[in-house]
Amino acid sequence: MKKIFVNGQVYTGEPALASAFAVEDGLFTFVGDEDAARALAKPGDEIINLAGRFVCPGFNDSHMHLLSCGLALRRAKLNEHTGSLRDLVDYFRDFAKDGPNERGWLVGRGWNQDYFTDVHRMPNRYDLDEVSREYPVAAVRCCGHCAAVNSKALELLGITAETPAPEGGEIGLEGGQPDGRFYDAAMDLIWAAVPEVGKEDVKDMIRAACRRFNACGVTSCQTDDYATDWRMVNEAYRELREAGELTVRVNEQCNFRDVDSLAAFIAEGHVTGEGDHLFRIGPLKMVADGSLGGRTAYLSRPYSDDPTTRGLMLFSQKTLDEVIGYANAHGMQVAVHAIGDGCLDAVLDAVEKALIAHPRQDHRHGIVHCQITRPDQLERMARLRMHIYAQTIFIDYDSRIVRDRVGDMASSSYSWKTLMQMGLTVSNGTDCPVELPDALRGIQCAVTRAPLMGGEAYLPEEAFTLREAIDSYTSAGAMASFEENVKGKIQPGMLADFVVLEKNLFDAPQDEISRVRVCGTWLGGEKVFG
Ligand SMILES: [Zn+2]
Repeated sequence: MKKIFVNGQVYTGEPALASAFAVEDGLFTFVGDEDAARALAKPGDEIINLAGRFVCPGFNDSHMHLLSCGLALRRAKLNEHTGSLRDLVDYFRDFAKDGPNERGWLVGRGWNQDYFTDVHRMPNRYDLDEVSREYPVAAVRCCGHCAAVNSKALELLGITAETPAPEGGEIGLEGGQPDGRFYDAAMDLIWAAVPEVGKEDVKDMIRAACRRFNACGVTSCQTDDYATDWRMVNEAYRELREAGELTVRVNEQCNFRDVDSLAAFIAEGHVTGEGDHLFRIGPLKMVADGSLGGRTAYLSRPYSDDPTTRGLMLFSQKTLDEVIGYANAHGMQVAVHAIGDGCLDAVLDAVEKALIAHPRQDHRHGIVHCQITRPDQLERMARLRMHIYAQTIFIDYDSRIVRDRVGDMASSSYSWKTLMQMGLTVSNGTDCPVELPDALRGIQCAVTRAPLMGGEAYLPEEAFTLREAIDSYTSAGAMASFEENVKGKIQPGMLADFVVLEKNLFDAPQDEISRVRVCGTWLGGEKVFG
């Protein structure tokens, strides 16, 4: 039985829009005009009217952290309800309707008593007893340096008036009794009591993240999750896949920090491309420097707005050479987080050495972020045929700080369009949970080069056309995982992953793209959202 979609405005990946397509057995089987599509209909086929809506290939977020995103989604967002203690407690109690969200505990974060208009104090055990008396509750302050818990938690932790505070911490007392507040190192007492994450927790996080991604039109992601035990992560994904619950295609960016652990992984038979189109082993992933906002991205010279630092390199050249060399020689693709130009020099050195020692035709080794760059590095990346994992949504914040941080290097940075024009493939993503997993926000920044709320464009000559921006989020993402022949376009024979939007992006004003609503998301021809 086929599904035939008619009356749409369909961006297939080619310039001309189609109006109809057909799907069978998880694949697109026809793309073209309405009459030809209707002529294919046989008894029992379903005809779906798209009501003039816009359709494009499902979005592929080419670098993110799916498990962290799932965890963040499960925590109560107290920062959104910190106008008064009353609002905080009411929201948290309402949130608690689904029961504990973290291994038997209910955890939220983000309160700030300075914003309370009703009382001028921190929450205590009695406030949180209103949230639950049955299971432990913890509410962490926005800064992460103190937390309040309920009476059940104090009971479980065995905290009494006599409990000594650990060094560097404080346990709050009121009238000689514990008041439920924990400061700095004393918070470790709380976290030590929350059980380690198990496979079922991991599966819950994946389910939550998948729902959220589908709501944003995301059908594929490339994700770095091995901060949690990699065997458990792989099992969780595979079990969800078998159960039909994995509603986002996952390409795992395998994070290893040394040759021994990478070698052990490869020795068990894992290599880039292993798996199927729902769960696949992707590249070796390494994080080689920090962030621009925190001035920890590693520059080739001191920061313009803090001459005392050049940032942080997280690996020695020797380690980069060894791990990248090993991966390259053993069939692994490599994707390395590099934000500062100093870090990029070291990573490109390592990649170049690896390819001289063990040449590969179509390696697709990539730079994740690729933000602060010098003109000579753009040339060098083109020569090495690097893949670029960009996050155009970073323009939203970074365009305001980049000149302060790096001075005149800002004029050759975030130069993803130049790299594209040099023949490199630039895929797009959000680094979720750093940013929301919302592709349309990134597409808007890619074409405007300006903050989402408006403002001055940063290097406007680096703006993508809308088509390039959509392609960066679809077909270029498929290139990154060697799947350009199976997904990323609406073409006969490709996986039927697509998103239905309320408006034609080609008709929408550029600064309204991020507000276009996702009406439906389809994975392998099945509706997963909308
Ligand atoms: Zn990341």
